[in-house]
Amino acid sequence: MKMRTRFAPSPTGYMHIGNLRTALYCYLIAKHDHGDFILRIEDTDQQREVEGAIDLIYQVMEETGLHYDEGPDIDGGVGPYIQSQRLDIYHEYAQKLIDLGGAHYCFCEGELEGEDPCLHLSQQEIQDKLDAGISHVIRQTIPTTGTTSFDDEVYGHIEVENKTLNEGILIKSDGYPTYNFANVIDDHLMNISHVVRGNEYLSSTPKYNLIYKTFDWEIPTYIHLPPVNKDETHKLSKRNGDASYQDLKEKGYLKEAIINYIALLGWSPEGEQEIFSLDELIKAFDVKRISKSGAIFDMNKLKWINSQYIKKLDTKQLTELCLPFLKEAYDLSNKSEAWIEKLVEVHRDHISCGEEIVEQVKLFFEDEIHLEEEAIEFMKDEAIPNTLAVFKSKVAELAEEDFKQDQIFACIKATQKEAKARGKMLYMPLRIATTGIMHGPDLAASMELLGKEKVLKRLG
Ligand code: GLU
Repeated sequence: MKMRTRFAPSPTGYMHIGNLRTALYCYLIAKHDHGDFILRIEDTDQQREVEGAIDLIYQVMEETGLHYDEGPDIDGGVGPYIQSQRLDIYHEYAQKLIDLGGAHYCFCEGELEGEDPCLHLSQQEIQDKLDAGISHVIRQTIPTTGTTSFDDEVYGHIEVENKTLNEGILIKSDGYPTYNFANVIDDHLMNISHVVRGNEYLSSTPKYNLIYKTFDWEIPTYIHLPPVNKDETHKLSKRNGDASYQDLKEKGYLKEAIINYIALLGWSPEGEQEIFSLDELIKAFDVKRISKSGAIFDMNKLKWINSQYIKKLDTKQLTELCLPFLKEAYDLSNKSEAWIEKLVEVHRDHISCGEEIVEQVKLFFEDEIHLEEEAIEFMKDEAIPNTLAVFKSKVAELAEEDFKQDQIFACIKATQKEAKARGKMLYMPLRIATTGIMHGPDLAASMELLGKEKVLKRLG
Protein backbone atom coordinates (compact mmCIF):
# COMPACT_ATOMS: atom_id res chain seq x y z
CA MET A 1 0.00 0.00 0.00
CA LYS A 2 1.31 3.42 -0.90
CA MET A 3 2.28 5.60 2.03
CA ARG A 4 -0.39 8.28 2.44
CA THR A 5 -0.61 10.74 5.32
CA ARG A 6 -2.99 13.58 5.91
CA PHE A 7 -2.87 16.85 7.74
CA ALA A 8 -6.37 17.52 9.03
CA PRO A 9 -6.61 20.96 10.62
CA SER A 10 -9.77 22.52 11.94
CA PRO A 11 -10.19 26.09 10.70
CA THR A 12 -10.32 27.72 14.09
CA GLY A 13 -8.29 30.81 13.44
CA TYR A 14 -4.53 30.52 13.43
CA MET A 15 -1.78 28.06 12.80
CA HIS A 16 -0.29 27.37 16.17
CA ILE A 17 3.09 25.81 16.54
CA GLY A 18 1.73 22.37 17.46
CA ASN A 19 -0.45 22.34 14.34
CA LEU A 20 2.36 23.30 12.06
CA ARG A 21 4.59 20.67 13.68
CA THR A 22 1.92 18.04 12.94
CA ALA A 23 1.65 19.26 9.34
CA LEU A 24 5.41 19.12 8.96
CA TYR A 25 5.74 15.60 10.38
CA CYS A 26 2.86 14.36 8.18
CA TYR A 27 4.65 15.85 5.20
CA LEU A 28 8.09 14.51 6.12
CA ILE A 29 6.82 11.02 6.88
CA ALA A 30 5.01 10.83 3.52
CA LYS A 31 7.81 12.37 1.48
CA HIS A 32 10.55 10.29 3.12
CA ASP A 33 8.75 7.31 1.61
CA HIS A 34 7.84 9.02 -1.68
CA GLY A 35 4.23 8.88 -0.57
CA ASP A 36 1.29 11.26 -0.80
CA PHE A 37 0.54 14.06 1.59
CA ILE A 38 -3.10 15.07 1.79
CA LEU A 39 -4.75 18.18 3.21
CA ARG A 40 -8.21 17.70 4.69
CA ILE A 41 -10.17 20.51 6.28
CA GLU A 42 -12.06 19.36 9.37
CA ASP A 43 -14.78 21.96 9.67
CA THR A 44 -17.52 19.97 11.34
CA ASP A 45 -17.51 22.05 14.49
CA GLN A 46 -19.30 25.01 12.99
CA GLN A 47 -19.30 26.95 16.25
CA ARG A 48 -15.55 27.02 16.47
CA GLU A 49 -15.02 27.97 12.86
CA VAL A 50 -13.38 31.33 12.22
CA GLU A 51 -13.79 33.23 9.01
CA GLY A 52 -10.68 33.35 6.88
CA ALA A 53 -9.08 30.47 8.78
CA ILE A 54 -9.15 28.11 5.80
CA ASP A 55 -7.33 30.65 3.63
CA LEU A 56 -4.75 31.02 6.35
CA ILE A 57 -4.14 27.28 6.31
CA TYR A 58 -3.58 27.35 2.53
CA GLN A 59 -1.31 30.33 2.87
CA VAL A 60 0.89 28.79 5.56
CA MET A 61 1.17 25.49 3.69
CA GLU A 62 2.16 27.32 0.52
CA GLU A 63 4.58 29.64 2.25
CA THR A 64 6.37 26.94 4.21
CA GLY A 65 6.66 24.67 1.18
CA LEU A 66 4.53 21.89 2.66
CA HIS A 67 2.94 21.22 -0.71
CA TYR A 68 0.14 18.71 -0.56
CA ASP A 69 -0.55 16.22 -3.33
CA GLU A 70 -4.29 16.27 -2.72
CA GLY A 71 -6.55 18.74 -1.00
CA PRO A 72 -9.59 20.95 -1.49
CA ASP A 73 -8.04 22.54 -4.57
CA ILE A 74 -6.16 19.46 -5.86
CA ASP A 75 -8.46 16.56 -6.56
CA GLY A 76 -6.99 13.11 -6.18
CA GLY A 77 -10.27 11.28 -6.72
CA VAL A 78 -11.20 10.70 -3.06
CA GLY A 79 -12.67 14.14 -2.32
CA PRO A 80 -14.29 16.34 -1.35
CA TYR A 81 -11.49 17.21 1.06
CA ILE A 82 -13.60 19.54 3.19
CA GLN A 83 -15.67 17.67 5.75
CA SER A 84 -18.71 19.93 5.60
CA GLN A 85 -19.05 18.86 1.96
CA ARG A 86 -19.10 15.17 2.91
CA LEU A 87 -22.22 15.07 5.09
CA ASP A 88 -24.01 12.61 2.79
CA ILE A 89 -21.06 10.25 3.05
CA TYR A 90 -21.12 10.34 6.85
CA HIS A 91 -24.86 9.69 6.92
CA GLU A 92 -24.50 6.77 4.56
CA TYR A 93 -21.80 5.18 6.70
CA ALA A 94 -23.55 5.97 9.96
CA GLN A 95 -26.56 4.02 8.68
CA LYS A 96 -24.28 1.15 7.66
CA LEU A 97 -22.69 1.17 11.08
CA ILE A 98 -26.11 1.06 12.74
CA ASP A 99 -27.03 -1.89 10.54
CA LEU A 100 -23.82 -3.65 11.55
CA GLY A 101 -24.51 -3.06 15.25
CA GLY A 102 -21.69 -0.56 15.74
CA ALA A 103 -23.93 2.45 16.40
CA HIS A 104 -27.43 3.34 17.51
CA TYR A 105 -29.90 6.20 17.58
CA CYS A 106 -30.11 8.03 20.88
CA PHE A 107 -32.94 10.37 21.82
CA CYS A 108 -31.63 11.30 25.27
CA GLU A 109 -31.10 14.94 26.08
CA GLY A 110 -27.82 16.07 27.58
CA GLU A 111 -24.94 13.94 28.77
CA LEU A 112 -25.42 10.24 29.37
CA GLU A 113 -24.84 8.83 32.80
CA GLY A 114 -24.28 5.12 32.76
CA GLU A 115 -25.74 2.91 30.10
CA ASP A 116 -27.67 4.53 27.27
CA PRO A 117 -31.38 3.64 27.74
CA CYS A 118 -31.89 4.02 23.98
CA LEU A 119 -29.89 0.83 23.48
CA HIS A 120 -33.03 -1.03 24.52
CA LEU A 121 -35.49 0.67 22.17
CA SER A 122 -37.21 -1.62 19.72
CA GLN A 123 -36.95 -1.06 15.99
CA GLN A 124 -40.55 0.19 16.02
CA GLU A 125 -39.97 2.61 18.90
CA ILE A 126 -36.98 4.07 17.12
CA GLN A 127 -38.90 4.47 13.88
CA ASP A 128 -41.80 6.17 15.66
CA LYS A 129 -39.51 8.67 17.33
CA LEU A 130 -37.72 9.41 14.06
CA ASP A 131 -41.05 9.85 12.28
CA ALA A 132 -42.21 12.20 15.01
CA GLY A 133 -39.14 14.31 14.29
CA ILE A 134 -37.68 13.96 17.78
CA SER A 135 -34.20 15.39 18.04
CA HIS A 136 -31.58 12.67 18.12
CA VAL A 137 -27.94 11.81 17.78
CA ILE A 138 -26.19 8.67 16.60
CA ARG A 139 -23.95 7.12 19.21
CA GLN A 140 -21.27 4.54 18.96
CA THR A 141 -22.27 1.18 20.41
CA ILE A 142 -19.38 -0.26 22.41
CA PRO A 143 -19.11 -3.89 23.42
CA THR A 144 -19.32 -4.28 27.20
CA THR A 145 -16.77 -7.06 27.26
CA GLY A 146 -13.38 -7.70 25.74
CA THR A 147 -10.40 -5.47 25.10
CA THR A 148 -9.15 -3.44 22.18
CA SER A 149 -5.47 -3.09 21.47
CA PHE A 150 -3.14 -1.64 18.90
CA ASP A 151 0.49 -0.71 18.48
CA ASP A 152 1.33 2.93 18.08
CA GLU A 153 4.60 3.68 16.29
CA VAL A 154 5.62 6.11 19.00
CA TYR A 155 3.80 5.02 22.15
CA GLY A 156 3.96 1.28 21.62
CA HIS A 157 1.37 -1.27 22.68
CA ILE A 158 -1.90 0.18 23.94
CA GLU A 159 -4.61 -2.03 25.33
CA VAL A 160 -7.89 -0.98 26.93
CA GLU A 161 -10.94 -2.76 28.26
CA ASN A 162 -13.91 -1.97 26.08
CA LYS A 163 -16.13 -1.27 29.06
CA THR A 164 -13.97 1.78 29.90
CA LEU A 165 -14.75 3.41 26.55
CA ASN A 166 -17.69 5.78 26.42
CA GLU A 167 -20.41 5.58 23.82
CA GLY A 168 -19.57 8.88 22.19
CA ILE A 169 -21.66 10.77 19.69
CA LEU A 170 -20.87 10.04 16.04
CA ILE A 171 -23.53 12.20 14.38
CA LYS A 172 -24.74 15.26 16.26
CA SER A 173 -28.35 16.47 16.37
CA ASP A 174 -27.50 19.09 13.73
CA GLY A 175 -26.58 16.28 11.35
CA TYR A 176 -22.84 17.02 11.47
CA PRO A 177 -20.45 14.23 12.35
CA THR A 178 -18.09 14.51 15.29
CA TYR A 179 -14.36 14.15 14.81
CA ASN A 180 -14.71 10.70 16.39
CA PHE A 181 -16.68 9.48 13.41
CA ALA A 182 -15.50 11.61 10.51
CA ASN A 183 -11.82 10.85 11.04
CA VAL A 184 -12.41 7.11 10.65
CA ILE A 185 -14.63 7.37 7.60
CA ASP A 186 -12.35 9.85 5.87
CA ASP A 187 -9.09 8.15 6.70
CA HIS A 188 -10.48 4.92 5.29
CA LEU A 189 -12.10 6.39 2.16
CA MET A 190 -9.05 8.52 1.47
CA ASN A 191 -6.75 5.49 1.74
CA ILE A 192 -4.69 7.01 4.52
CA SER A 193 -2.04 4.46 5.44
CA HIS A 194 -0.45 6.37 8.34
CA VAL A 195 -2.45 8.51 10.74
CA VAL A 196 -0.14 11.15 12.19
CA ARG A 197 -1.70 13.39 14.86
CA GLY A 198 -1.31 14.78 18.36
CA ASN A 199 -1.29 12.34 21.25
CA GLU A 200 -4.47 13.87 22.68
CA TYR A 201 -6.19 11.40 20.34
CA LEU A 202 -4.31 8.39 21.63
CA SER A 203 -6.91 7.48 24.26
CA SER A 204 -9.79 7.64 21.76
CA THR A 205 -8.02 5.54 19.16
CA PRO A 206 -9.36 2.21 20.53
CA LYS A 207 -12.87 3.52 19.89
CA TYR A 208 -11.93 4.37 16.33
CA ASN A 209 -10.47 0.91 15.90
CA LEU A 210 -13.77 -0.62 16.98
CA ILE A 211 -15.42 1.23 14.10
CA TYR A 212 -12.78 0.01 11.64
CA LYS A 213 -13.33 -3.51 12.89
CA THR A 214 -17.09 -3.34 12.60
CA PHE A 215 -16.73 -2.26 8.98
CA ASP A 216 -14.02 -4.87 8.50
CA TRP A 217 -11.64 -2.17 7.28
CA GLU A 218 -7.90 -2.27 7.57
CA ILE A 219 -6.69 -0.26 10.57
CA PRO A 220 -4.07 2.38 9.61
CA THR A 221 -0.65 2.66 11.19
CA TYR A 222 -0.80 5.18 14.01
CA ILE A 223 1.89 7.73 14.75
CA HIS A 224 0.84 9.86 17.72
CA LEU A 225 3.01 12.88 18.40
CA PRO A 226 4.13 14.26 21.75
CA PRO A 227 2.73 17.66 22.74
CA VAL A 228 4.65 20.88 22.32
CA ASN A 229 4.93 22.47 25.74
CA LYS A 230 5.68 25.93 26.99
CA ASP A 231 7.38 24.54 30.10
CA GLU A 232 7.32 21.44 32.28
CA THR A 233 3.62 21.71 33.04
CA HIS A 234 1.90 23.82 30.39
CA LYS A 235 1.02 23.01 26.83
CA LEU A 236 1.78 25.67 24.28
CA SER A 237 -1.43 27.50 23.55
CA LYS A 238 -2.33 30.54 21.57
CA ARG A 239 -5.03 31.31 24.09
CA ASN A 240 -2.31 31.96 26.66
CA GLY A 241 -0.54 34.29 24.28
CA ASP A 242 2.02 31.77 23.04
CA ALA A 243 3.46 32.35 19.62
CA SER A 244 1.76 31.10 16.48
CA TYR A 245 3.46 30.74 13.11
CA GLN A 246 2.07 34.12 12.09
CA ASP A 247 3.37 35.80 15.24
CA LEU A 248 6.84 34.48 14.58
CA LYS A 249 6.71 35.66 10.96
CA GLU A 250 5.58 39.06 12.17
CA LYS A 251 8.59 39.29 14.46
CA GLY A 252 10.85 38.66 11.51
CA TYR A 253 11.66 34.97 11.83
CA LEU A 254 12.36 33.24 8.52
CA LYS A 255 10.02 30.51 7.43
CA GLU A 256 12.89 28.11 6.74
CA ALA A 257 14.21 28.64 10.24
CA ILE A 258 10.78 28.17 11.81
CA ILE A 259 10.33 24.90 9.92
CA ASN A 260 13.84 23.79 10.85
CA TYR A 261 13.21 24.53 14.51
CA ILE A 262 9.77 22.96 14.59
CA ALA A 263 11.16 19.75 13.10
CA LEU A 264 13.27 19.40 16.23
CA LEU A 265 10.27 19.72 18.56
CA GLY A 266 9.73 16.05 19.28
CA TRP A 267 12.19 14.52 16.84
CA SER A 268 15.95 14.31 17.01
CA PRO A 269 18.25 13.62 14.10
CA GLU A 270 20.86 10.95 14.40
CA GLY A 271 24.02 13.04 14.24
CA GLU A 272 25.06 16.46 15.47
CA GLN A 273 23.59 18.42 12.59
CA GLU A 274 20.97 20.95 13.65
CA ILE A 275 20.46 23.07 10.56
CA PHE A 276 18.29 21.30 7.98
CA SER A 277 16.61 22.43 4.80
CA LEU A 278 13.23 20.90 4.06
CA ASP A 279 14.84 18.48 1.60
CA GLU A 280 17.41 17.45 4.15
CA LEU A 281 14.64 16.90 6.68
CA ILE A 282 12.81 14.64 4.23
CA LYS A 283 15.93 12.50 3.89
CA ALA A 284 16.81 12.43 7.57
CA PHE A 285 13.36 12.05 9.11
CA ASP A 286 12.84 8.79 10.91
CA VAL A 287 9.66 7.93 12.84
CA LYS A 288 11.73 5.81 15.22
CA ARG A 289 13.39 8.96 16.53
CA ILE A 290 10.16 10.71 17.49
CA SER A 291 10.10 11.19 21.24
CA LYS A 292 7.29 10.12 23.56
CA SER A 293 7.70 12.99 25.97
CA GLY A 294 6.60 16.54 25.34
CA ALA A 295 8.96 18.94 23.61
CA ILE A 296 9.56 22.35 25.14
CA PHE A 297 9.34 25.35 22.88
CA ASP A 298 12.61 27.16 23.44
CA MET A 299 12.62 30.68 22.06
CA ASN A 300 16.40 30.97 22.48
CA LYS A 301 16.98 27.90 20.37
CA LEU A 302 14.70 29.31 17.68
CA LYS A 303 16.64 32.56 17.83
CA TRP A 304 19.90 30.72 17.39
CA ILE A 305 18.58 28.76 14.43
CA ASN A 306 17.14 31.89 12.89
CA SER A 307 20.45 33.69 13.19
CA GLN A 308 22.12 30.82 11.33
CA TYR A 309 19.71 31.43 8.46
CA ILE A 310 20.23 35.18 8.67
CA LYS A 311 23.96 34.59 8.10
CA LYS A 312 23.13 32.95 4.77
CA LEU A 313 20.96 35.74 3.37
CA ASP A 314 22.40 38.08 0.77
CA THR A 315 22.22 41.81 1.44
CA LYS A 316 19.01 42.26 -0.56
CA GLN A 317 17.25 39.47 1.32
CA LEU A 318 18.48 40.76 4.65
CA THR A 319 17.19 44.21 3.76
CA GLU A 320 13.86 42.77 2.75
CA LEU A 321 13.62 41.07 6.14
CA CYS A 322 14.50 44.18 8.14
CA LEU A 323 12.90 46.94 6.09
CA PRO A 324 9.30 46.62 7.38
CA PHE A 325 10.56 46.96 10.96
CA LEU A 326 12.76 49.94 10.11
CA LYS A 327 9.94 51.66 8.24
CA GLU A 328 7.62 51.17 11.14
CA ALA A 329 10.08 52.56 13.68
CA TYR A 330 11.93 55.33 11.85
CA ASP A 331 11.57 57.99 9.21
CA LEU A 332 13.51 56.65 6.24
CA SER A 333 12.37 59.29 3.76
CA ASN A 334 15.80 60.89 3.42
CA LYS A 335 17.78 57.64 3.53
CA SER A 336 19.10 56.08 0.33
CA GLU A 337 18.63 52.43 -0.53
CA ALA A 338 22.40 51.97 -0.33
CA TRP A 339 22.51 53.49 3.14
CA ILE A 340 19.74 51.18 4.37
CA GLU A 341 21.48 48.16 2.87
CA LYS A 342 24.72 49.11 4.54
CA LEU A 343 22.91 49.67 7.84
CA VAL A 344 21.41 46.18 7.90
CA GLU A 345 24.56 44.54 6.55
CA VAL A 346 26.66 46.05 9.33
CA HIS A 347 24.23 44.63 11.91
CA ARG A 348 23.79 41.20 10.36
CA ASP A 349 25.67 39.41 13.14
CA HIS A 350 23.91 41.37 15.83
CA ILE A 351 20.32 40.33 15.19
CA SER A 352 18.60 37.00 15.53
CA CYS A 353 15.31 38.10 13.95
CA GLY A 354 13.99 41.00 11.91
CA GLU A 355 12.42 43.00 14.73
CA GLU A 356 15.71 43.16 16.64
CA ILE A 357 17.13 45.51 14.02
CA VAL A 358 15.08 48.38 15.47
CA GLU A 359 16.86 48.46 18.82
CA GLN A 360 20.25 47.79 17.26
CA VAL A 361 20.19 50.78 14.93
CA LYS A 362 18.52 53.29 17.24
CA LEU A 363 21.59 55.48 17.49
CA PHE A 364 21.61 56.08 13.74
CA PHE A 365 18.28 57.83 13.98
CA GLU A 366 18.85 59.87 17.11
CA ASP A 367 20.40 63.32 17.11
CA GLU A 368 21.77 63.16 20.62
CA ILE A 369 23.80 60.42 22.23
CA HIS A 370 23.35 59.39 25.82
CA LEU A 371 26.32 57.89 27.58
CA GLU A 372 26.00 55.23 30.20
CA GLU A 373 27.76 55.64 33.53
CA GLU A 374 30.48 53.19 32.56
CA ALA A 375 31.19 55.09 29.35
CA ILE A 376 31.35 58.42 31.17
CA GLU A 377 33.88 56.90 33.59
CA PHE A 378 35.94 55.51 30.73
CA MET A 379 36.09 58.85 28.95
CA LYS A 380 37.77 60.46 31.97
CA ASP A 381 41.16 59.04 30.95
CA GLU A 382 43.45 61.99 30.28
CA ALA A 383 44.92 60.65 27.06
CA ILE A 384 41.52 60.58 25.39
CA PRO A 385 41.04 64.24 24.36
CA ASN A 386 44.22 64.08 22.31
CA THR A 387 43.20 60.83 20.63
CA LEU A 388 39.85 62.33 19.67
CA ALA A 389 41.48 65.53 18.40
CA VAL A 390 43.98 63.66 16.24
CA PHE A 391 41.29 61.48 14.76
CA LYS A 392 39.06 64.50 14.17
CA SER A 393 41.77 66.28 12.22
CA LYS A 394 42.27 63.20 10.05
CA VAL A 395 38.62 62.71 9.12
CA ALA A 396 38.11 66.44 8.65
CA GLU A 397 40.55 66.20 5.76
CA LEU A 398 38.47 63.58 4.01
CA ALA A 399 36.30 64.86 1.18
CA GLU A 400 32.57 64.21 1.66
CA GLU A 401 32.57 61.45 -0.95
CA ASP A 402 35.64 59.83 0.65
CA PHE A 403 33.93 59.50 3.99
CA LYS A 404 33.77 55.73 3.55
CA GLN A 405 34.52 52.75 5.75
CA ASP A 406 37.98 52.05 4.28
CA GLN A 407 39.18 55.63 4.41
CA ILE A 408 37.78 56.08 7.90
CA PHE A 409 39.61 52.94 8.93
CA ALA A 410 42.80 54.42 7.52
CA CYS A 411 42.21 57.51 9.70
CA ILE A 412 41.86 55.26 12.76
CA LYS A 413 45.15 53.59 11.87
CA ALA A 414 46.86 56.94 11.38
CA THR A 415 45.52 58.06 14.78
CA GLN A 416 46.97 54.96 16.35
CA LYS A 417 50.44 56.02 15.23
CA GLU A 418 50.18 59.69 15.82
CA ALA A 419 48.34 59.68 19.16
CA LYS A 420 50.13 56.53 20.31
CA ALA A 421 46.80 55.06 21.35
CA ARG A 422 46.34 51.34 20.93
CA GLY A 423 43.72 48.65 21.25
CA LYS A 424 40.99 49.56 23.66
CA MET A 425 42.45 53.02 24.23
CA LEU A 426 42.08 53.72 20.53
CA TYR A 427 38.76 52.19 19.59
CA MET A 428 36.76 52.68 22.74
CA PRO A 429 37.05 56.47 22.96
CA LEU A 430 36.30 56.85 19.27
CA ARG A 431 33.34 54.53 19.55
CA ILE A 432 31.90 56.14 22.66
CA ALA A 433 32.37 59.66 21.32
CA THR A 434 30.76 58.98 17.96
CA THR A 435 28.12 56.33 18.69
CA GLY A 436 27.57 56.65 22.43
CA ILE A 437 27.83 52.91 22.99
CA MET A 438 30.72 50.79 24.22
CA HIS A 439 30.14 47.74 22.05
CA GLY A 440 28.78 47.67 18.56
CA PRO A 441 29.43 46.61 15.00
CA ASP A 442 32.41 47.66 12.90
CA LEU A 443 33.38 51.15 14.01
CA ALA A 444 34.45 52.58 10.65
CA ALA A 445 31.27 51.26 9.04
CA SER A 446 29.18 52.79 11.82
CA MET A 447 30.86 56.14 11.27
CA GLU A 448 30.22 55.98 7.54
CA LEU A 449 26.55 55.41 8.31
CA LEU A 450 26.45 58.33 10.72
CA GLY A 451 27.94 60.65 8.10
CA LYS A 452 30.81 63.08 8.27
CA GLU A 453 28.91 65.97 9.75
CA LYS A 454 27.59 64.05 12.75
CA VAL A 455 30.91 62.36 13.40
CA LEU A 456 32.80 65.66 13.40
CA LYS A 457 30.24 67.28 15.64
CA ARG A 458 30.41 64.46 18.15
CA LEU A 459 34.19 64.50 18.25
CA GLY A 460 33.87 67.91 19.86
N1 GLU B 1 -9.05 18.31 13.23
C1 GLU B 1 -8.22 17.73 14.22
C2 GLU B 1 -7.49 18.83 14.94
O1 GLU B 1 -7.34 19.91 14.40
C3 GLU B 1 -7.23 16.84 13.53
C4 GLU B 1 -6.77 15.68 14.26
C5 GLU B 1 -6.18 14.67 13.31
O2 GLU B 1 -5.12 14.94 12.73
O3 GLU B 1 -6.79 13.64 13.10
O4 GLU B 1 -7.07 18.63 16.06
